Amino acid sequence: MDVVRELPHLTFYRGRVAMYAILKALGVGKGDQVLTQAFTCLAVPEGIMATGASPVFVDTEEGGVNMCPTDLASKLGPQVKAVILQHTFGIPAQIVSIKEALAGSRLPLVEDCCHTFASTYVNQLVGTFGVGAFYSFEWGKPIIAGLGGSAVLNDRDLRQRVESIWHTTSEPPFVSVLKVQLMYAAFNRLYSPSSFWKTRRRFRALSKSGVAEGNYHATEGVSEEFGYRMSAPLRKRLRAKLVEAGQLVERAREIVAKYESAPLSQRLKRPLVPEGAVPVYARWPLFAEDKERLLAIAEESNVEIADWYTTPIHPLSAADWKQVGYEPGSCPRAESLSAQIVSLPVNQKVNQSDIDRAMELLRDL
Ligand SMILES: *Cc1c(COP(=O)(O)O)cnc(C)c1O
Repeated sequence: MDVVRELPHLTFYRGRVAMYAILKALGVGKGDQVLTQAFTCLAVPEGIMATGASPVFVDTEEGGVNMCPTDLASKLGPQVKAVILQHTFGIPAQIVSIKEALAGSRLPLVEDCCHTFASTYVNQLVGTFGVGAFYSFEWGKPIIAGLGGSAVLNDRDLRQRVESIWHTTSEPPFVSVLKVQLMYAAFNRLYSPSSFWKTRRRFRALSKSGVAEGNYHATEGVSEEFGYRMSAPLRKRLRAKLVEAGQLVERAREIVAKYESAPLSQRLKRPLVPEGAVPVYARWPLFAEDKERLLAIAEESNVEIADWYTTPIHPLSAADWKQVGYEPGSCPRAESLSAQIVSLPVNQKVNQSDIDRAMELLRDL
């Protein structure tokens, strides 16, 4: 399937809204459970909970950033109605083992492709392994339209049901579209790897003041955004960006090839990439022995190194995990992963000097 050609069709207000529509179309609702990995962002449990179902968290794999097939098998039960499989940072999950763990249960697999539309696993594109997949086009994702998401379905009946749900959505309010457009323009002007820390400080101040559209909401009650589609101007931008999708992938590969060929300090480790997986990265992740220290050095040296996910349910701190039903200690690998993970940018604004400065820092750490 040509996923890129499919992306502009079933678009929703956000990636989580596209996921919500897929789950609704699968009949997921109150009293049901949806399995998803810990070491994810709040958007995922938020979208699951919007259907009335509860998220149940599966731990991450040994040495990697994706779902552990063994832990998945241990969490299956009669209330489980679907599984969300995330390809974190663009690294494909162990899809074959995951499918083996699900064999016999007939549970639908929905792929979270928010970090990649182009990675492959045993020569097959991610997003084509399950009944459907969802994508996101906000800041930090491989294709940036400002805000928005898309559902791609591999099953004709399911696609028709998601289409019916799409027809019940409406254009978002003008003020929200305007905010997104202003944010997009500001980010486009202000962001580059060398202005990352400064832009981040400014953006946080704006978010706090309510001028900028924040990323997450209180998880009580279903937010109105689950009834919105992607706005017409953002859809238009998405279509324009998709024309360059091939170049985006090429550039991402070039940047990562440079990161991968540079020497690394002993204090850093690269995450597992399963055999047969060819990732196209959204960001290039590393495990750091002392994450706090590395981030402090990066900020001081003005090198873009990001900290997410900072918790198993980013950005929720431990006190708020119960909001989404995450039991402290239930996914120990995901918890220690959050304490070690850092990542480098892989986007159109990264230039050779950014790469050189980052790799010098990571070598001499
Ligand atoms: C960004 C993201 C989402 C949801 O994206 P929104 O468009 O913000 O709803 C879901 N899953 C993952 C892994 C993401 O990175």
